Amino acid sequence: MRFADLHLHTNFSDGTYTPEELAAFGRQHGLAAMSLTDHDTIGGCARMATACQAVGIEFISGSELTAELNGNELHLLGYFIDIHNPKLLAEMSRFQTVRQNRIREMVARLNQLNIPLHDDAVFALANCLSPGRPHVARALIQAGFCKSLDEAFNRFLKKNKPAWVPKFKVSALDAIALIHQAGGVAVMAHPGLNRTDDIIPDLVAAGLDGLECFHSKHSTVTAEHYLMLADQHRLLVTGGSDCHGMNKGKPLIGTVKLPYEHVERLKERKGELKLATTNVHK
Ligand code: AMP
Ligand code: FE
Ligand code: FE
Ligand code: ZN
Repeated sequence: MRFADLHLHTNFSDGTYTPEELAAFGRQHGLAAMSLTDHDTIGGCARMATACQAVGIEFISGSELTAELNGNELHLLGYFIDIHNPKLLAEMSRFQTVRQNRIREMVARLNQLNIPLHDDAVFALANCLSPGRPHVARALIQAGFCKSLDEAFNRFLKKNKPAWVPKFKVSALDAIALIHQAGGVAVMAHPGLNRTDDIIPDLVAAGLDGLECFHSKHSTVTAEHYLMLADQHRLLVTGGSDCHGMNKGKPLIGTVKLPYEHVERLKERKGELKLATTNVHK
């Protein structure tokens, strides 16, 4: 059997591994295909493609967009997106600016709590265009204000904690359209973590292509529930570990192995979407 991991992060967002390290782990775990799904960026895809090619792994370009629908946060995975698509690059650059400003606001709140952290320390540690709360957490640990990521999140960074700042999120309907216009397939990430099943019909109406049924934080019962929903709405099935490297203790790569037949279905959908766009232009 051949397997894939379609949900992975590198240090181009809040993961700790480089694309080359991640590809090497993929090889160790015998993966046939991998996708890189960094938050709001495709910056690592070119290097990941080269690194995968070097170790004989099929690479699928990707990204994980933070979006919202009816006040619910959800993450949308875009697969096979064209990493040179101008609109996608422009929108992602906007999302990244929002992320950078949010870091400055979180640091300002920490300063108000008499924690003299400097945003330069966070940006230096993040060393990427798409920084997030884990980088603030790591900077807090580095400066000796917290002992662990969990402590940093639980004391300061979790929703409604004193340094938490709400994040601008693109509308899920716009995010699906953005992925499609970049030639990508749109998949709802880890639906079992958000538990907002009631928005799925609206997403389907907007063109959602798939559900991430297999995820490292989904129990067998949860995976089965979403397999059933995918079947009901005629959605594709995807899966991945959501590995962030050493951020959360043990690396998760290798814990979710998606049977390769689902990658075949994704490719078929990509072909259909391409045909549909070509017909529109006729
Ligand atoms: P952000 O995109 O800046 O809102 O940060 C969200 C990211 O924080 C998620 O993608 C996770 O990678 C990470 N995260 C959330 N909660 C925790 C936690 N308790 N410990 C470590 N990382 C976390
Ligand atoms: Fe993350
Ligand atoms: Fe996510
Ligand atoms: Zn993720």
